[in-house]
Order: sequence, then C-alpha cells, then structure tokens
Amino acid sequence: MIPYGRQAVDDQDIAAVVDVLKGDWLTQGPAVEAFETAVSDYLEVEHVVAFSSGTAALHGAAAAAGLGPGDVVVTSPLTFMASANCARYVGAAPALVDIDLETWNLDLAEVPGSASAVVPVHYAGLPADLGRMPVRPRIVIEDAAHAFGARTADGPVGNCARSDMCCFSFHPVKPITTGEGGAVTTNDASLAAALRRFRTHGAVPRPESGGWCYDIAEIGFNYRMTDIHAALGLAQLAKVERFIARRNELAERYRAVLADLPVGLPPEAPDGTRHGYHIFPVRVAHRRRVYEGLRGAGIGVQVHYRPVHHHAISADIGLEPGDLPRCDALYEELLSLPLYPGLTEAEQDTVVHELTRLVGQDRG
Ligand SMILES: *Cc1c(COP(=O)(O)O)cnc(C)c1O
Repeated sequence: MIPYGRQAVDDQDIAAVVDVLKGDWLTQGPAVEAFETAVSDYLEVEHVVAFSSGTAALHGAAAAAGLGPGDVVVTSPLTFMASANCARYVGAAPALVDIDLETWNLDLAEVPGSASAVVPVHYAGLPADLGRMPVRPRIVIEDAAHAFGARTADGPVGNCARSDMCCFSFHPVKPITTGEGGAVTTNDASLAAALRRFRTHGAVPRPESGGWCYDIAEIGFNYRMTDIHAALGLAQLAKVERFIARRNELAERYRAVLADLPVGLPPEAPDGTRHGYHIFPVRVAHRRRVYEGLRGAGIGVQVHYRPVHHHAISADIGLEPGDLPRCDALYEELLSLPLYPGLTEAEQDTVVHELTRLVGQDRG
C-alpha cells in the first residue's frame, strides 16, 4: 500500500531515541527543554510549550486564553474535529464560517465581529492570510498542524506575528514527528506560563513554604511530552527544510503531470509564501468510485475532511450539510493523494497512472 502520508525516520532518529532510553530521564526532562529551545529558534518565537499531542496543545491554548462558557470560537468547517473541539473542551461554543475557494481556508473576511476567538487552520499547509480579518477577535489561535515549516511574508508560521498562540501536531503524518506530540508557540510570557501550568496539573511551586510544596489553584492535566518523544522531534527538526523542499518538489510534479486530466488542483501558495504541503488534496468527480478504485489498486488515498458540521457531535453548531455551500461542494469531490518526503517518483507515477485510468472512465 502506498499511504497518503507517512513519517521519514532514519538511523539518526533511532539513535537519538535510544540515547534517551539509556539515560536517567524518560518523562519530560532535558530533551523536552532542548526540543522547545530548538523549535523556538527555528520558528523565531519567544516561547514554545511542548504537549503530548496536537489536540492537547489546542486544549491548552483555549484554556490559557481564558475561553469558556459564553465565548464563541470560529473555525474552519474543513478541518479535523480537534480544531472545533478545543472550544467544546473549555465549555465555549464552536462556530463555523464557509471556506474561501481561492485558498480552501476559512474565509477570514466572514468572521463575525461578535466572536471571542478564531482558530484559523492552515489547510494542507497553505497559510491562511491572517491580515484579511476585518475585525480581529480578542483571541487568535492558529491551528498549524499542517504547516510546520511553511512561511509567509511575516516569517515562519508559528512566530505568532498576527496571533496570540499557534498550535502544532507532531503525529507521524505531519511535517515532522515525535510519534505523538504537539506544541503551542506564543510571544506572551503569561500565556506561556499558563500553558506550562495547564500541561502539569495546574501546579505552581511554592518554595517559600518548603522545597516539596506546590499549590494547585486551577484545573490542569498531564499533557506532558516525554523525553523519548522530544529526542525524536529534535532529530527530525534538523531535517525539516529538506522534508518541506521534497514535499514542494513532489507537489509541483503532481501539478505538472495532472494538468491535462479532469482533476482540480489545490490552491497554490502566492508569491512570498512557502506551502507546507502536509497533504495534496485534489477535486475529482465521482469521488467514491475513484477512492475505491485507488484503494483497490493499493493506493491509500484519504479524504481531508468530512466537514465539521457533518458530524453528529456538531448538532450544537446548528448547521446542516449544505449550509456552507462552498465547503460542502468541495467536500463532495475531495481526495488526498499520497505525499510524503519518502514517496519515490516511481510510486508517484503509479498513483498518477491509476488516477488517469479511473478519471478517464468519466469521459466515455
Ligand atoms: C492532526 C491535527 C490535529 C490534532 O493533532 P494530534 O496530534 O493528532 O492530536 C488538529 N488539527 C488539525 C488540523 C490536524 O490535522
């Protein structure tokens, strides 16, 4: 099976993890600190707080922002449920606005001024233009799970040039991996402190009352990353530029070879922006037949995503399939083709060959 995405782990990554296993620290320790420092240098941001997953990072960001009951949090309908669930986790109300067909990101021009927060998702790795918001809500939390290594004219995605916090995931299909893992970046020291409390039970040391003493004044979780995971992340980070360059190279090759087929190509990055190409989603007619045909041929295509408002949990949002017509029409045709640094050109040719055969049947 050629999967839609997969990690690129080499002997250097494996050696880094083995080193931690031979040392004194397994849970959060010096490797997590080193990973956070290296990510903050790479992303040109003041604070990086590592988490046990991207979902935990989003939960932490929503909590640190003080979001809760009465707050409306707008996100994209075309995303993984965690982007909306971070509002639900803290008792806030998720809300959706339709996507912009020029970018497939949520249409930031439509975010209502009444929203407390917005969670823009850099879909497929193409950064949403945060400058397009007519009224900036009180809180802006980027969901950059797809966009580690992407850049805009403002610098690296994650530098929080136009946001309060930015969340990443290091799941194996994402741009770099720690196995499971995530992080929140911010330039605000008090948000960083709140994030660090939140990931460790809300605990604050009270050394004036004794070396053992800490106080818990607010709810927290065990959302720590382990040193085992962080060592993998640190080794992966050294290769991120190569990974993103390879993703861009393969994406350009798809664009060239698919140009003459009845296949809709994903939005391109404008000048001055580097696409992260976490996935390569295309539009095809008869998507179900094409999906099943490709799966049958050993090509692990996927659909990103069944929209947020199509899921049963989203009854709280009050939208039906069809109510966000641009997203709903795109979803009918969406299909993510395999894209990852280790994909060979021969494998990519196999994907294109099978896709050509399947979409060719439409013409008869
Ligand atoms: C992967 C992903 C997440 C969640 O990250 P996990 O590390 O899997 O918890 C959140 N949002 C988006 C858009 C994602 O793709």
